[in-house]
Amino acid sequence: MTQLPRHQHFIAGEWTEPAEGEYFESLNPTTAQPLYAAAHGTAEDVERAVAAARTAFEDPRWRDLSQTRRGRLLRNLGDLIGEHAEELARTETLDNGKLLREMRAQLAGLPEYFYYYAGLADKIHGEVIPGTSRELLNYTLREPVGVVGAITPWNSPLLLTATKLAPALAAGNTVVVKPSEHTSASLLALAPLFDEAGFPPGVVNVVTGFGATAGAPLTEHPGVAKVTFTGSTETGRRIARVCADRFVRCTLELGGKSPNMVFPDADLGSAAMGVIAGIFAAAGQTCVAGSRVLVHREVYDEILDRVTARAATIRIGDPLEDTTELGPLAIASQLEKVESYVELGLAEGGTIACGGIRPKTELGGYFFSPTVFTGTDNSMRICQEEIFGPVATVMPFASEDEAVALANDTSYGLAAGVWTRDLNRAHRMASRLEAGTVWVNTYRSMSPMSPRAGFKNSGAGTEQGTEVIREYTRLKSVWVNTSEEPAGDPFILKS
Ligand code: NAD
Repeated sequence: MTQLPRHQHFIAGEWTEPAEGEYFESLNPTTAQPLYAAAHGTAEDVERAVAAARTAFEDPRWRDLSQTRRGRLLRNLGDLIGEHAEELARTETLDNGKLLREMRAQLAGLPEYFYYYAGLADKIHGEVIPGTSRELLNYTLREPVGVVGAITPWNSPLLLTATKLAPALAAGNTVVVKPSEHTSASLLALAPLFDEAGFPPGVVNVVTGFGATAGAPLTEHPGVAKVTFTGSTETGRRIARVCADRFVRCTLELGGKSPNMVFPDADLGSAAMGVIAGIFAAAGQTCVAGSRVLVHREVYDEILDRVTARAATIRIGDPLEDTTELGPLAIASQLEKVESYVELGLAEGGTIACGGIRPKTELGGYFFSPTVFTGTDNSMRICQEEIFGPVATVMPFASEDEAVALANDTSYGLAAGVWTRDLNRAHRMASRLEAGTVWVNTYRSMSPMSPRAGFKNSGAGTEQGTEVIREYTRLKSVWVNTSEEPAGDPFILKS
């Protein structure tokens, strides 16, 4: 433990020793060996971080900065991320096992999140409300909310932090981020860049640690004006209750059980690749994983053959290697969870068409083979519960109506994929599906410009796009009486 690199909290622009002096180990999922030790955050550390963020919120260097200059800082940060892309990508790959190839692509796009909101920073404003009397001027001020508490999961730490940080800062807030206890490293590698980009100390703070001891105190802290959370539905529900008690705003991006549907008129080669990408990219550890593959009966066998044939040749190995296609699961408990769902699927009567095992590797990490279930019914638990691993169920449907019914028959509503060359069908499906994102003839496309929302148990509120600015600002209505006339009857409303 002592020889491991140690990471402290990042508070008020300084590396800060945890209040209780304790650290916890984080493992490399490829080897299951200790990688580093991170500060074990407690309520006292959260207290310091929120105090630093509050001070920074009032600091004239931040509060009085013109919105255009605020945008400039975000642009600087985007540039710096671009310069440090390789180091950040490697750090995250070592920490959560995502393919380095994928991380490089993600890092190539990450600066865009900061550039997009840099451009938006000086377009955030209130408006004059017309229609009141000539003497009364009514206008709105769109103000930052204050200190934002951001809590992120382990599957895409940098990207999911960027989707919160960039709009929160563009709107003039200050932030305390609590990354997942399993993957603190890439955000800590990013932290020094805030200062280099020109953000005053305390505008962005990072407290590492566990959900109960660091995450919960952040959501409960009276100095936090808004919580933005990405993670499991269960934790999201708990956080929503805490926020509701304090009437604090909260945005929730939660789990999913997304359908990926193939119609007989689709380009079947592309559809099969879309199915593979939907469930096996990032070893299925994406909130939008297309874990329920629904295929029209006419092309069911062909799609199943193509998918299982490709799944069987997926190269499993070290995510740092360019040739690897599937890395490990990010944490040991996730491997156990995936395995238990595979056992459950068999017990429920499903059949394994491929995978379903821990593959043999010399690496020692948390690997699981790409798995396809057939013979499942949508009411089974493996079709209803989020597995968050490389496990797909492939089920047939006979008509568009049945496809819609099956697709919507879930408590989640995060994403959906539709593979068809029929334009009318594509638009019909997009309108009938209960999902915050619908992809037609593509899967997993994402841009800072495009809003992301989860319907039903997949979340509340919106991230990304211009809409998100509403989530990070509050609206104040200002009334000014411009009349020189003496005040009239005090018992009559003036409007
Ligand atoms: P998780 O809910 O276990 O943890 C997420 C974060 O919440 C971690 O930082 C954790 O420490 C913290 N936390 C846990 N308990 C807390 C509490 N009581 N109060 C405050 N914070 C607490 O989720 P996970 O296992 O890290 O991530 C996987 C989940 O995230 C999956 O369900 C996945 O679908 C979801 N996810 C959703 C999206 C999306 O955009 N909708 C994106 C990625 C991941």
